[in-house]
Amino acid sequence: MKTVTDPKAVQAWALTEKRAGRTIGFVPTMGFLHEGHLSLVRRARAENANVVVSIFVNPLQFGPTEDLAVYPRDAGGDAAKVEGAGCDVLFMPEPSAMYAEGFQTHVDVSRLSQGMCGAHRPGHFRGVATVVAKLFNLIQPDRAYFGDKDYQQVQVIRQMVEDLAFPLAVIALPTVRDADGLAMSSRNVRLSDRARQAALILPEALKMLQARCRRETLLSTTIREEFKAVLARQPEVELEYVEIVEPQTLSALTQAGGRVSAVLAAAIRVGGVRLIDHCRLGD
Ligand code: AMP
Repeated sequence: MKTVTDPKAVQAWALTEKRAGRTIGFVPTMGFLHEGHLSLVRRARAENANVVVSIFVNPLQFGPTEDLAVYPRDAGGDAAKVEGAGCDVLFMPEPSAMYAEGFQTHVDVSRLSQGMCGAHRPGHFRGVATVVAKLFNLIQPDRAYFGDKDYQQVQVIRQMVEDLAFPLAVIALPTVRDADGLAMSSRNVRLSDRARQAALILPEALKMLQARCRRETLLSTTIREEFKAVLARQPEVELEYVEIVEPQTLSALTQAGGRVSAVLAAAIRVGGVRLIDHCRLGD
């Protein structure tokens, strides 16, 4: 595996591979890697001649009061992990190389970025779409792999790829969870034991509502109330949002479950850490 920090160098390498007819699979990440990330790398390995993983904690997608400064990092450990999962090129640019003095071009996937996490993290998806567009131009992937865990992010990227005609396939893979049910996240490392125990109420509440809505169509107001009632069992968990949305457009639904398929998505704060998770409702 080779590690590249220079954007121009990775682009030159990618163009050579493309000209030689060799495919490129790409997994963008912010590092501090876990099995969720590695599931994407392994899938990329199985489907492409080359696998590129990027590690870049993208300052553009963090708000001024968010956790950019304390976002967990472990470059050495990450390199060994991605190499073990079959990565050929690890791309780790410096922020100053991605955003040179005078940088001023952004990608705004306007409607899909508005609700859910977008409503609570102004500018977040603009930062995500912008960096992913730039990474796509540098790495020229045939296939790009994302986790379904960040559900809104996947929809934003799919729309961007469609609208701006990026010649690649977006592949979303299922959320990898720890044995206790908590969705793996780099941010989990910042949870105390107590906060982590409390955080388990999030997957528990989602599972409960998913079971409730398997055969029955419920009003979204009912789903929200029942979800909040479960979460209230853990007073240290603060709910940021819970939304019931149409799976592709992410527009709010007034009912869900049974034949009405929906996504139930939520964000919580616990012990100073923000966590997101979601599940499917209905067919
Ligand atoms: P991040 O480093 O958090 O930006 O995540 C990089 C990629 O890994 C994104 O496409 C995430 O959706 C994906 N990812 C993060 N956590 C998980 C997980 N628990 N299961 C599957 N994919 C994940």
